[in-house]
Amino acid sequence: AASVQFRNVTKRYGNVTAVDDVSFTIEPGQLVTLLGPSGCGKTTTLRMIAGLEMASEGQILIGGRDVTNLSAADRDVSMVFQSYALFPHMSVLENVAYGPSVQGASKKDAYEMAMEKLSLIGLKGLEKRAPSELSGGQQQRVAVARALVLEPQVLLFDEPLSNLDAKLRRRVREDIRELQQSLNLTVAYVTHDQEEALAVSDHIIVMSNARIAQTGTPRELYEEP
Ligand code: ADP
Ligand code: ADP
Repeated sequence: AASVQFRNVTKRYGNVTAVDDVSFTIEPGQLVTLLGPSGCGKTTTLRMIAGLEMASEGQILIGGRDVTNLSAADRDVSMVFQSYALFPHMSVLENVAYGPSVQGASKKDAYEMAMEKLSLIGLKGLEKRAPSELSGGQQQRVAVARALVLEPQVLLFDEPLSNLDAKLRRRVREDIRELQQSLNLTVAYVTHDQEEALAVSDHIIVMSNARIAQTGTPRELYEEP
């Protein structure tokens, strides 16, 4: 697991400052939540960790390495998207094997790596199905397996529960937390839901108007002294 560090990072889109002079450190093996209302800059922050957006100012370090100017492909970071973004015409196995294949693994190796992650995440037996033949919770697991198969140093989640029904949400967030702890993964997790943040996080970064309003453990932030 690697650390993630932002040093005075700003992101502008024209006249809009989406992230304004933000600094924080995510320690290795910690799950840190970016919490705040819609439009406060959470997703932009996450996308800058991934290298899907470039910082306008400041420095981003992953595992102590300056990645500020590196593209997503060179960052060793995987993201689980809100919409899962699975390929509908590919089987579950092909979806998960796709990343390793693109990175040059043989078909056989890519399938083996994919099967290993699918087993880990409780999807063994479903590998030949199409994504549309799975439940929402199962599709979400495929998205997680697809992120994990690249053995990233940092795993990112953007509102991972938003497409799940209320009953599944608790279960899935517990699964994500368990997986993160058992694999000792560094995770950045975006949500606007305080209860969710309290339940899953080692540390919470509260954002407001493109800045950090508060940071602390769930206990420090929300329990009575
Ligand atoms: P959150 O994830 O907290 O809802 P975002 O990071 O998506 O917030 O957005 C922060 C601000 O930046 C918002 O005002 C949003 O409209 C703006 N923004 C985000 N992405 C873009 C973009 N690609 N182009 C222009 N403005 C953007
Ligand atoms: P979220 O659910 O994280 O709040 P949004 O609905 O704000 O996401 O944005 C969804 C996508 O649209 C994001 O990738 C974001 O970067 C982009 N986006 C947000 N605001 C704008 C904007 N004003 N102009 C262009 N793209 C935007």
